[in-house]
Amino acid sequence: MKRFEGSICLVTGAAKGIGAAIAARFASEGATVLIAGLHLDTAQNMAAEIGHGAVGYEVDVSESSAVIRLFDRVIKEHGVPDVVVNNAGIASDHPSVDLPDEVWQRELDVNLSGTFFGAREAARRLIEAGKTGVIVNISSIAGFRVVSPERHVGYDATKAAISQMTKVLAYEWAPQGIRVNAVGPGYTDTDILKEIARTSPEIVDEWLAKTPYGRLLQPSEIAAVVCFLASDDASAITGQTVMADGGYSL
Ligand code: NAD
Repeated sequence: MKRFEGSICLVTGAAKGIGAAIAARFASEGATVLIAGLHLDTAQNMAAEIGHGAVGYEVDVSESSAVIRLFDRVIKEHGVPDVVVNNAGIASDHPSVDLPDEVWQRELDVNLSGTFFGAREAARRLIEAGKTGVIVNISSIAGFRVVSPERHVGYDATKAAISQMTKVLAYEWAPQGIRVNAVGPGYTDTDILKEIARTSPEIVDEWLAKTPYGRLLQPSEIAAVVCFLASDDASAITGQTVMADGGYSL
């Protein structure tokens, strides 16, 4: 399939993990992919690995000024992105009574504000240019169910908020032809999980026991759902969070 021939697709947090898989899938379907990562070198390295003319950029999505600068640059060099995927995210593991203020705040800043800043800038630039487009946000099973035994109340709150924000923005921007959806991954084999499982590897068995598929998902499986939502095949869908979780949320 070449559903994104001629499209410009910007993916945040795409130097590795799910974001890299999303970028690779867009590229394989003909898009010009812009990989926005926290560090320029890793973003550029991933762009080189993906090929197909992918380009790496640096952004800290938690800073609105950095997100604005990113869009200024990509628009100058490539044009207004047709698709923006707000994928960058962080998670921690702390009992809530011991959760340090700075960890709470950073999760809100990166996951929630970062997703909003990316969505707002994407819509602003599309509307200014008189273009239609698509925004896909990354939520989580943790925004819908209490996940355990890990404890990350800040993360969970941001993911629930991302799904609600997705509905609100979809409603607001539908008249301008901008669709906004989210994907809610289940446990997916990336570094964010490896970090949580580092001190207690047995946690993985608990995750698998609670997942009807009985396995971790692969980043490419999440990427396929993101690309479906970004494609014209999903033209009827806006404001939804599609769970891609191996049945975890059932
Ligand atoms: P990951 O740790 O492999 O990748 C996260 C990426 O986000 C990294 O490249 C990191 O550098 C980037 N990032 C972090 N802070 C940033 C910032 N301030 N600005 C720009 N980039 C930043 O983890 P992943 O599993 O690939 O996570 C991708 C998304 O999927 C996240 O939003 C995460 O919450 C979500 N998710 C993951 C899982 C899972 O099981 N892996 C499940 C549900 C949701």
